[in-house]
Amino acid sequence: MEKVFPVPARVLVVAAHPDDLDFGCAGTVALWTKGGSQVSYVICTSGDKGSDDPSMDRDLLARTRQEEQMEAARVIGVSDVHFLGFEDGSLENDVDLRRTLVRCIRRLRPDVILCHDPGNRSFENPYVSHRDHRAVSEAVFDAVYPASGNPHFFPELLAEGLAPHKVREMLFFGTQSPNFWQDITHVMDLKIKAILSHRSQVADPEQMEKFLRLRFEEAGKRVGVPYAEPFRRLTFPW
Ligand SMILES: [Zn+2]
Repeated sequence: MEKVFPVPARVLVVAAHPDDLDFGCAGTVALWTKGGSQVSYVICTSGDKGSDDPSMDRDLLARTRQEEQMEAARVIGVSDVHFLGFEDGSLENDVDLRRTLVRCIRRLRPDVILCHDPGNRSFENPYVSHRDHRAVSEAVFDAVYPASGNPHFFPELLAEGLAPHKVREMLFFGTQSPNFWQDITHVMDLKIKAILSHRSQVADPEQMEKFLRLRFEEAGKRVGVPYAEPFRRLTFPW
């Protein structure tokens, strides 16, 4: 089983909410930024419903969560972070979201895209099955294939100077069917620090760290390393 993914030149990570990608792939991204990759984050919502407190001001929560995501990105070595500003809980895999994602892909021209797994359909884990995760994962896949690489999809983007772009590989995080495990042992501390940057979402940092170490240790056992991030890896034949 392969343990090492060659460091890509350009990487795009798409997630539904602030903190999703830190749980999913921050270790792998930290390895790549250290290796010289240019990495961009696209966060579709600002997580403005990520609170059980009915008196919480949603605009304030959105700003807080954006700041937390920026801080986490700095920990991982990513400075290019885009917030699309869709409403939390309301994402749809519709033509607007797909056009926006194709625009991002054609502008950033990534070799690899990481996002939620569109194959997660068992609903065994309520967190990974959040409706925004389902909607984004399908929209990203549809944006990659066939829309981004085909000039007949969204011809208005050609007029913006955005030529078609074919993405070589996708890595799906939070997957229930992993087929690839990235060794993140040397950057596990950075991943934990990034996740703990999301202070509004972490009630008990010590408990969270314990949970994370157990979870990624478990994944590491699959490939004989102390810590790993699991993915479903999809390579396009072009
Ligand atoms: Zn989420």
